[in-house]
Amino acid sequence: MALYVQKFGGTSVGSTARIESVADKIIAYRNQGHDIVVVVSAMSGETNRLLALAHDIDSQPSPRELDVLLSTGEQVTIALLSIALQKRGCMARSFTGGQVRILTDEAYTRARIREIDDKKIRSELAQGRVVVVAGFQGIDEEGNITTLGRGGSDTSAVALAAALKADECQIYTDVKGVYTTDPRVVEDARLLRSITFEEMLELASLGAKVLQIRSVEFAGKYKVPLRVLSSFEDDPGTLISLEDENEMEAPIISGIAFTRDEAKITVSGVPDVPGIAYRVIGPVSDAGIEVDVIVQNVSADGSTDITFTVKRQDAEQTRQIIGRIAEDVKARDISLDTKIAKISLVGVGMRSHAGIASKMFKTLADESINIQIITTSEIKISVVIDEKYLELAVRSLHSAFGLGGES
Ligand code: ADP
Ligand code: ASP
Ligand code: MG
Repeated sequence: MALYVQKFGGTSVGSTARIESVADKIIAYRNQGHDIVVVVSAMSGETNRLLALAHDIDSQPSPRELDVLLSTGEQVTIALLSIALQKRGCMARSFTGGQVRILTDEAYTRARIREIDDKKIRSELAQGRVVVVAGFQGIDEEGNITTLGRGGSDTSAVALAAALKADECQIYTDVKGVYTTDPRVVEDARLLRSITFEEMLELASLGAKVLQIRSVEFAGKYKVPLRVLSSFEDDPGTLISLEDENEMEAPIISGIAFTRDEAKITVSGVPDVPGIAYRVIGPVSDAGIEVDVIVQNVSADGSTDITFTVKRQDAEQTRQIIGRIAEDVKARDISLDTKIAKISLVGVGMRSHAGIASKMFKTLADESINIQIITTSEIKISVVIDEKYLELAVRSLHSAFGLGGES
């Protein structure tokens, strides 16, 4: 008998009929004698609907109230799923994040889990119940409701699996597992049977939303066996592997991630003197805005251009901050481009292979796609391009690196 934490995402619980099929799936596991803790998301579209309601009233709603509002989505699903389980004669009980004491810090809308008290869940399991927990939410020390950032139910599930030392954390979603790239963009994307933590961490942080990045960090830190699989099909899906793979045998490229989430700001014609990057970027980071890629050009006439990217939602605020310091840093011009996309090739095998970057650049050149920024690390290469070429670029790279086909 094993203990499984099973998480079902928004599409998987998107209607009452789907909630009833999730109940059947859980019961099939239960009938094999396993203990089951279930984590659910809000029904698909619900979190966005709630957000839009708040924004109808105020463009900058209070983060505390947003969390009170957004957490209701998951509360609906835990109750409906428990009703469906009970109707089938399965003992089940629903709990909000606060009720099982998922304790977080007080950073509303992006809280981090600090501690989980497993007593309550263990006692429910001991009484033979399936425990249904609301994902994405917790409470802080003061008892305020907090949420964990978009996609945060993945992290709730992995954190519960870590706290309960579960045999496996299973993330059920609307695709069969982790693919070489988003299967909604590239039709012949290949399902990966396993992927290393390091690669999954990169893919998640570079835009593959199949797992929230924090869930992968958590799983790596607490050695939680993690699997991504389909809610709708019987398939073992993808195992995020804990063992160190033999890198010599690892594929050079494991996957391609991309994001449309960023915006690019260029501050041009600033004097090329010590401290200039700090004077431009400092005020942006001080405002709590995350700066991603930064490039500074060399220039012959003693002036330089600094280009950096931020989350698209922070673009306007960043432009205002740079506008305020423009005179002080003697900027000739400031430009903002929100129509960019970042594409990243990821693979641990890249470490031992040269020529990946040039092959990537040639592939894009052959499609006449201009590269605006390039950044690299040991196991990834990212380029920023015009958003309108995103899909073409991903498809061409996917095929140039031979990533497609049957798994
Ligand atoms: P859930 O609601 O179950 O949490 P998400 O929408 O958050 O589901 O994540 C699943 C989606 O992630 C898929 O439908 C797919 O479009 C997208 N995705 C992006 N990159 C990948 C990838 N490399 N492998 C699988 N899915 C991916
Ligand atoms: N419902 C939340 C969201 O849409 C959390 C999740 O689904 O993981 O972001
Ligand atoms: Mg998700």
